[in-house]
Amino acid sequence: MSPVRPIPDPFQFELFGLIAEPKPEVVEAQKNGQRRRGPRHQPKGEVYDLQVFFDVINQVMFKGGLPQPVIRWSRNRWRYTLGLCEVERCVVTLNDALDDARVPEMVVAGVMHHEMLHLYFGVSEGPNGGRRYHTPEFRAAEKMFPAYTSVEEWLRDNWPMRGRPAKKPRPSSGGFLQYLSMMHAG
Ligand SMILES: [Zn+2]
Repeated sequence: MSPVRPIPDPFQFELFGLIAEPKPEVVEAQKNGQRRRGPRHQPKGEVYDLQVFFDVINQVMFKGGLPQPVIRWSRNRWRYTLGLCEVERCVVTLNDALDDARVPEMVVAGVMHHEMLHLYFGVSEGPNGGRRYHTPEFRAAEKMFPAYTSVEEWLRDNWPMRGRPAKKPRPSSGGFLQYLSMMHAG
């Protein structure tokens, strides 16, 4: 595991400058998504509450500028996919296999950050008219996540998870989200 890196300041402000005005279509999709929120689409899992992840990352990495999406765990555990973002519907779904006490908090945070960047950047048109999601700008912003390298390493060594999931709450004190919040306060 490499040590957690601080956010480089110039990049941080560049990103923050961009996020000050959420795109109108994102705001509209958010309203539509909120109306569709049903009792089976709750962000609270058995181990992790995704709403808490969204709130902290939105404050620290997006200056609170992202509108609230529908956030949910997948109904079934997926084999490989970590998460999905439906940009037009403003829905973020994380693989329920990550709601597991064996998965570090920073990994859930890293996946959430990736999906939140999709909300932020939206869909771009590629040179051949195709849809592009992971543009160079997207990849650059992704690397600003403080634990980016550590998350990549953990996923390389541990994903996909094998064996029975540990569905028990993790002790919350001293966790990665707390560390992120402190960066915001400091
Ligand atoms: Zn993606």
